Amino acid sequence: MNVLVLGSGGREHALVWKLRESQQTEDVFCAPGNAGIGQIAECFPIDLTNPAAMLELAEQVKADLTVAGPEVPLVAGVVDEFLRAGRRIIGPTQAAAQLEGSKMFAKEFMRRHGIPTARFTVVEDYAAGVKAVAEFGLPVVIKADGLAAGKGVVVARTREEAEKALDDFLVQKTLGEAGDRVVIEECLVGEEVSFIVLAGARGLLPLVPTQDHKAVFDNDQGPNTGGMGAYSDDTILGDRLRKDILRRIIEPTLAGMAAEGMPYRGFLYCGLMLTEEGPKVLEYNVRMGDPETQPIMMRLRSDLCEILMASLEGQLAAIGARWSPNPAVCVVTSSKGYPGKSETGKEITGIDAAESIGGVKIFHAGTTFRDRQLLTSGGRVLGVTATAEDLPSAIEKAYAAVSKVHFDGMHYRRDIGAKGLQRLKMTREIHLPEKQAENSPLS
Ligand code: AMP
Repeated sequence: MNVLVLGSGGREHALVWKLRESQQTEDVFCAPGNAGIGQIAECFPIDLTNPAAMLELAEQVKADLTVAGPEVPLVAGVVDEFLRAGRRIIGPTQAAAQLEGSKMFAKEFMRRHGIPTARFTVVEDYAAGVKAVAEFGLPVVIKADGLAAGKGVVVARTREEAEKALDDFLVQKTLGEAGDRVVIEECLVGEEVSFIVLAGARGLLPLVPTQDHKAVFDNDQGPNTGGMGAYSDDTILGDRLRKDILRRIIEPTLAGMAAEGMPYRGFLYCGLMLTEEGPKVLEYNVRMGDPETQPIMMRLRSDLCEILMASLEGQLAAIGARWSPNPAVCVVTSSKGYPGKSETGKEITGIDAAESIGGVKIFHAGTTFRDRQLLTSGGRVLGVTATAEDLPSAIEKAYAAVSKVHFDGMHYRRDIGAKGLQRLKMTREIHLPEKQAENSPLS
């Protein structure tokens, strides 16, 4: 089979890498891709907001299957375009992609179907926003309704911060039309988990759980980004919690979308807060996460192409997926200035040295080749990903690999996976006698 992957980030590099391993694939293409993807697949320039252009490319490369990586082509209606032309593609239709394309749509959908989420209200002007903030109390969360590449959410601790976010979105229009409407919601407290499923024509396949790190600095400080790192480890979710999430969140979401005439197909990402009252939805994404995809693909042992085809053919339950029990950790290195205006054009070195460590794979995001030099070309640059037999070793290995790569102004968080270590330490303390716990490498 020929497979086309749409997108240009670390997520797409990981998907292309995994698809290249598949017994089913002949050729793998990517559009627009990046320097790392270009080393393993032919890349084509593309406008990800233009469904007709993407269909034309799929026809040109004779793609038997297309996978849409990011939300932009999905919200633009690429799946509808492909379905009309009878071409196979993984992802939801434009109507179903509203789950991510409009936060107001998602919140009202959850309210209609009794899916647990934070209390909220929607405003369209500044004065109404200020009034709503006063009613909700502090802290409060202010969200632009439309797509904002991870930059449309402000968790405001003070009234000034809340009012500034309202002013930015509704008055200054810093996010353009995406900020025409604003969701104001209750601030939830707890641990965040990303739970992703692949929804097929029949049945669904839950992927291994991950934890993302959205804030730019250690200890979740500073503004939110597209994601500064992620890890996947089975200890993130116990069996009971996993079942609870499927029963109270995933299944009612898929049933609700079907009942409203928008049957959901493709990857569905639920950003969850594990609150004292149980798991609640922070957001839906209508695709896999970036950087969550990188550790997930490192752990996938099954043939990705076979899984994707099974989802289209209603065979997901029959095929299932095999996963490595070993955790995987992805540390994102970003350019100076990110998530604001980022420096670009800096030379990147050390990738081969980092990848010479066993179990390490570097996925490219904002990279480009110019005059045979590998240069930075965006905010997030590399996803340095490592797998090992336990979480402490995977973290150690990922940071050993990070220490080998370099570009001017390189920034990364030093605490990716730390919450997982904390969790392991707590379980050890409960299960091990005190003396043994003291000697454990985790203490
Ligand atoms: P979202 O894009 O909606 O997931 O928001 C981005 C980030 O903002 C989330 O990953 C959370 O860290 C935070 N966030 C969003 N909504 C809430 C909420 N209701 N309570 C607390 N934190 C939130």
